[in-house]
Amino acid sequence: MKCLECKSDVEQLNNHHLSDCCGLTLQEYAIRHHVPLDLLVHESMVNVVDDIAEYSLPSDDPSIRALSILKVLQLGGAFEEQNNFISLSSDIRRLDELLWYLRELQVYGFQYRQEYNYTSTSHRVVPNNLIKTPIAYKHKFTASSNVLDFELFLAVLVAQAGEFHNGYIFLSLPINDEIGALLNKLTVKYQIRWKTLDDDADNKKTLYRTESLEDAKRLLALVSIYLKEIPCVSERYFSEVQHAIVSKELVFDSAHFITDHPGKCENLHGGRYALHVKIEGRIDPLTGFVVDYGYLKAIVKKHVIEKLDHQNLNFVCADLGWRSSTELLNIFIWEQLIEFLPGLVELQTYETTQSFCQYRGPSLEELQKNNGKTPLKHFSQPELGRSVLRQLLHRHQSAKNLKVVAK
Ligand SMILES: [Zn+2]
Repeated sequence: MKCLECKSDVEQLNNHHLSDCCGLTLQEYAIRHHVPLDLLVHESMVNVVDDIAEYSLPSDDPSIRALSILKVLQLGGAFEEQNNFISLSSDIRRLDELLWYLRELQVYGFQYRQEYNYTSTSHRVVPNNLIKTPIAYKHKFTASSNVLDFELFLAVLVAQAGEFHNGYIFLSLPINDEIGALLNKLTVKYQIRWKTLDDDADNKKTLYRTESLEDAKRLLALVSIYLKEIPCVSERYFSEVQHAIVSKELVFDSAHFITDHPGKCENLHGGRYALHVKIEGRIDPLTGFVVDYGYLKAIVKKHVIEKLDHQNLNFVCADLGWRSSTELLNIFIWEQLIEFLPGLVELQTYETTQSFCQYRGPSLEELQKNNGKTPLKHFSQPELGRSVLRQLLHRHQSAKNLKVVAK
C-alpha cells in the first residue's frame, strides 16, 4: 500500500506510521484523501479491548492548573465512565483541543486513543477519538488542595459545554448545587446574569443562556486569555466566519374558528399547518452548523408543536381566542422560540398550500429592550376592563341582555 502523504510503500497504514510521517491520525488521513476508513483499518484494529496495564500511574502531585481542568470537566459532566475507563471524547475536527486536555491531564494517567468500532447497527467502522484513564485511578482525582484557577476553570467550562449563537452563550450543564453556586457567583461577583431555559430531566441537564448580549461579552472578556489558548475554541468564539440561513419544517394539526368574522371561517374547522422556522447565524467552524437540526427540531417540538398539535388554537392563548389567524399564530410561535433561538429571522406558516403568512419578529435584544411587549397582549393586559368607558356597561347591563338567547 502506498502512503499518500510520504509516497512510501508501507505494509500497513496505521497511526504508528502516520504519526512519524505526517502527524495525522488514520481518520484524518481517510478524510483528507477521501478514502473510506473501512478500507484502511485492518481487522486487528477493530473492536479492540483496551488494556489497563498500558496506562502509567498517576502523579501524586498534580499542578493547580491540571486540577482545575480535571475538576471542571468532572463538574460539567464531560467524562464518561465505561468498561473500566474514564474518558473524554471529541469530534475529529477538535482533535487539537482534545490533545490540549491530554497534555494537561497526563499526570492523571490519561492517554489518547483512536478506537475503531464495528457494530451490527452502524454497518461500518466508526472511529472514536478519546483520552482515557483507568477508573481505578479515580481516587487520585481528589486533590490535596482545593485552590483552583477560577478563570481557567471557567474557560474550560465555556469551551466544553458552551454553544455560541448570535452573540449569546448557551451552557448545557448537569443539574446540581455546585453549578447553581457557580452561576450565582458569576452573577454576584462579575455581573454575568443567566437565564435558565430548560430542564431536561431525562438527560439530567439544564440549558442556561447568558441573559443579554452584554452578559456574554462580560463572560468572554473574563475568560478570553484562556479561551484563546485552547486550540479550536478561539475559532469558535473569535474568528470571522460566514453566515447562512437554515430552515426546518414541522407540521401540526389544529382546529380553530375566527371570532367576529362574517364568513365560513367562523365555524370550527381543522387543518394541517406547515411551519418553517428559519435561523440565521455564523457557520460554527467546529461543527459546520449554524444550529444543529436536531436541537432546532427538539426546541420547536417541545415549545410549539406540543402546545398546538391536536388543539383548538382559540384556547392556546388569550389573543388567539379572539383571532387565531396565521399572523397572530406566528407572533405566538415567535414568542415561544426566540429565547432558545436568538438567530430566529423568519417564520412561515402555511394554513393551506395556497395561504401562508411570513413573519419577521423582533430580535431577542429588541424584545428585552421593550420588556417583552408584543402585539399579543390586548386581551391579557390587566388594564383591560378598567377604562372609564366600561362604566357604561354597568349602566346598560340588565338581566335581559346578559341572557343567552337560543335562536
Ligand atoms: Zn506516510
